[in-house]
Amino acid sequence: MEIKFIVDNNVGKLAKWLRIMGYDALLFSGEDDGKMVKVALAQNRVILTKDTQIMKRRLVTSGRLKAILIEDDDIGAQLHQVVEALNLDYHFSPFSVCIECNQRLIEKDRDAARELVPPYVFKTKRLYMECPSCHRLYWRGTHWQAMSRELKKLAGKQ
Ligand SMILES: [Zn+2]
Repeated sequence: MEIKFIVDNNVGKLAKWLRIMGYDALLFSGEDDGKMVKVALAQNRVILTKDTQIMKRRLVTSGRLKAILIEDDDIGAQLHQVVEALNLDYHFSPFSVCIECNQRLIEKDRDAARELVPPYVFKTKRLYMECPSCHRLYWRGTHWQAMSRELKKLAGKQ
């Protein structure tokens, strides 16, 4: 079964990078920890947080709910901690999850993308992926390459 996350606000940057790696990472932006725990339990998500109180909850101490207490402030170190703890792959499934809304991307017909991307992009890129929620288009262009490079840097840092 694929591993899924719920990311607490206090380590919110992790959500972006886990999505770039291709993991389902829901960002929890509410204040109510109880609600986050409920969602985690209902959707079978691993909690990522800096909040030690969450780690003391019965559901977590009993092992019914998995939570990882993030120790570092540095995003590279945070990511490394999660990758190590759960044996994740930095290159799990790149280019498959919307970075903005955590939806699984769907391949878009190249002809349908023609009107939506700059001509030089259309000429050189074959594969287009679309978010079913925000309809943002993704392709392996310069923006994507920059993110991949940054991820590689984060991955290699440790
Ligand atoms: Zn989206």
